[in-house]
Amino acid sequence: MRAIRRFTVRVTLPQPLAPLHDLMLNLRWSWHQPTVELFKSIDPAGWAASGGDPVAMLSSMRPAQLSALADNGDFLRRLDEAVADLQVYRNEPRWYQSANAPKEGAADIGAMPRAIAYFSPEYGITAVLPQYSGGLGILAGDHLKSASDLGVPIIGVGLLYRHGYFTQSLSADGWQAERYPADDPNGLPLTLLRHPDGDPVRVSVALADGSQLTAQVWLALVGRVPLLLLDSYLEENEPALQEVTDRLYGGGTEHRLRQELLLGIGGVRAVRAFCGITGHPEPEVFHTNEGHAGFLGLERIREYLAAGLSFDEALELSRAGTVFTTHTPVPAGIDRFPRELIERYFVHVDGGLPLDRVLALGAETYPGGDPHVFNMAVMGMRLAQRVNGVSVLHGQVSREMFAGLWPGFDTAEVPIGSITNGVHAPTWVAGEVSDLGDAERAASADASLLWGIRRQLRARLVTETRRRLRESWRQRGASGAELTWIDDVLDENVLTIGFARRVPSYKRLTLMLNDPQRLAGLLLDPDRPIQIVIAGKAHPADEGGKRLIQQMVRFADAEAVRRRIVFLPDYDMALARFLVQGADVWLNNPLRPLEACGTSGMKVALNGGLNLSVRDGWWDEWYDGGNGWEIPTADGVEDPARRDELEASALYELIAKSVAPLFYDAGADSVPHGWVQMVRHNLRTLGPLVQADRMVGDYVNRLYTPAARSSRALAADGGSAARSLAVWKARVRQAWPAVRIEHVEADGAEPSLGAVLDVRVMASLGDLSPHDVRVELVYGRLGDDDELTEPSCVTLAADESSPGRFSGSVELGQPGPFGYTVRVLPSHPLLASRADLGLVTYPDAPAGMSTGDLR
Ligand SMILES: *Cc1c(COP(=O)(O)O)cnc(C)c1O
Repeated sequence: MRAIRRFTVRVTLPQPLAPLHDLMLNLRWSWHQPTVELFKSIDPAGWAASGGDPVAMLSSMRPAQLSALADNGDFLRRLDEAVADLQVYRNEPRWYQSANAPKEGAADIGAMPRAIAYFSPEYGITAVLPQYSGGLGILAGDHLKSASDLGVPIIGVGLLYRHGYFTQSLSADGWQAERYPADDPNGLPLTLLRHPDGDPVRVSVALADGSQLTAQVWLALVGRVPLLLLDSYLEENEPALQEVTDRLYGGGTEHRLRQELLLGIGGVRAVRAFCGITGHPEPEVFHTNEGHAGFLGLERIREYLAAGLSFDEALELSRAGTVFTTHTPVPAGIDRFPRELIERYFVHVDGGLPLDRVLALGAETYPGGDPHVFNMAVMGMRLAQRVNGVSVLHGQVSREMFAGLWPGFDTAEVPIGSITNGVHAPTWVAGEVSDLGDAERAASADASLLWGIRRQLRARLVTETRRRLRESWRQRGASGAELTWIDDVLDENVLTIGFARRVPSYKRLTLMLNDPQRLAGLLLDPDRPIQIVIAGKAHPADEGGKRLIQQMVRFADAEAVRRRIVFLPDYDMALARFLVQGADVWLNNPLRPLEACGTSGMKVALNGGLNLSVRDGWWDEWYDGGNGWEIPTADGVEDPARRDELEASALYELIAKSVAPLFYDAGADSVPHGWVQMVRHNLRTLGPLVQADRMVGDYVNRLYTPAARSSRALAADGGSAARSLAVWKARVRQAWPAVRIEHVEADGAEPSLGAVLDVRVMASLGDLSPHDVRVELVYGRLGDDDELTEPSCVTLAADESSPGRFSGSVELGQPGPFGYTVRVLPSHPLLASRADLGLVTYPDAPAGMSTGDLR
């Protein structure tokens, strides 16, 4: 566990060691093993005691030790090499630069954005900077690291919480206790952002009473990527306001709102200051990682208003360059404020943001929506032209969840896409595995070599588990003499299952306890035993979660099973690495479909471990029948207890009948060849997919670059396109109620397979011209409820000689029940999707759809 560091004085290094500063301050060391080796060589015991924190290690060294180091020629040479290597890493052209390099004859020179600002409420870069509480933060950290490796010009923006991720310990009876060590930023690998004259940068945001909340800005270097972290602990703020950046997701509603105002609005101001000072290109794209950072869109609108644009023009410009990623289908995970609170705060925002427009952006204006609520996810979707979920399944679930924002459109047409998450391999993959090369190479390694490495990683987890378990029992009040049994906890030859995650109820920490006898039977099986290592933190306010942990701990405390099942407190990135590297099997049993993606199983896959999981999130997408196991879900079963029982039973069955037999089926060479074969297949199929490099590449190609293109198109000529788009939208909105489909005619009354359906439409467009709209024929197979499943669309041509007439045809190609209808949509080259304005007109019922059966 990390030591509490309150008023750490930044270590003063003898002059020859000065380059160590640069090396420590760039967090690339957190995923660069050679740099870690260099740090470790300074003082191996001190390194271990500091928990792998170079700043803490050097702070605790005596001056005599430091001056000896400054005289060590061999060390100084290695230090020079490391610094030079970092220099090259930071400056050489990487993927983005080569992809973006001017190519001869290419039309899209410099098509990718010059810079992207990425906003997130939390970041998991290293356990040394505990500014995260779960998957969202880890993902944000991995995003920045891969962006750095790929050379993507991202600027990260977040808050610096004084009390980072809490540390978890257990009471004697297994109840979670929390501690929030205070981190003095001066003891962290951060530097204060300053103006050229040396004055620290200040950003302020207005609060409800008209007063200002001020923050300073800390700069963390994540390889090539700057990360700006706002910190409200300043004398200028009255004491209550200093506490705004006290901790993640703590405090009441207003506290959270202040944090989010600082993150979104203050964050944009910090980016402007940073670019002004350093000459870094200004971002063309702003990425909102979950709703908490959504106020950034309002600040960008305010900037445009200040430059003389109208609200609608500003909205168009801001939307075009904004990407919003939604991360959870769990309603409790969606950020909502009382509308009245937003009203109080935005009455005072300077720069003339009209309050009614602000409130409208977060209004739940759909059936079932709450009129008293301001919804940050909804605002995120209105302020971003491009929106995505984080796995294919989650994209689908999000389209259903937010369909009410696009009334009149089928779920399939709701403009929310998906980019499946990934993990940063150099952070999570064990050195032994990455030494084999990429996943494909690792998969091709000799079976005994591969199995030997798996064994080594399992053994390391066993050792670390005993160490942590002993420490935990000491804290729970046991004496050393009572703990000799810990020497026999776990066995490096036993099939090892890992389970670690936050403890919200949908993740079902205790599903495995559904039938304790059966679980004990698996643990204690004389021929094919299993062992389980578990970790996870409950939110400090979540009593239910703490009860689940207690239930788990009590089970694991029992003398009969305690050598085979362990709950380790204080799940964080450091513990996660041991677990994902050492586990043979990674268990994940969420209530489908509530896990948006999940990433811990991806870390396991890259280390040659296998997933045993409910088909939720990423596993729904990439499980192929041979790269792990699927725990069948009892989706349709309404009674939660019955559902748990069914799914737990399936889990026990899988372990007993499939997983354990394959693991223990070793050949004469002691290698279980069937298992190793599965590991190889797992590495080959999942290796290229589950990496954050793939994910960040997808963001660049599918969202950032198109967003930059839209943004540039609108901004050209001093924003003239934005102006005309805003005027056009206002005109279309006003005219739309008069748009009607008056008449639909089709030839081929008895449709047959292969026939051509000719359709003619007479539409009344009111004040709009045929160029303002697109008239579409929508057709396809009918589902059980007579709705179109995966409808196709063709645009009907306007008849130039007869205004309001549109016609076209389609070949009917698939047998079975089919249907078609027509519709009118607004059409403009600068709209990102058909559903952009949320406007659509169908023929009046009951003649809305024609159906038939194709044979
Ligand atoms: C990877 C990771 C997570 C996210 O894992 P999920 O599978 O999404 O639950 C959370 N916490 C830590 C410490 C991690 O390393």
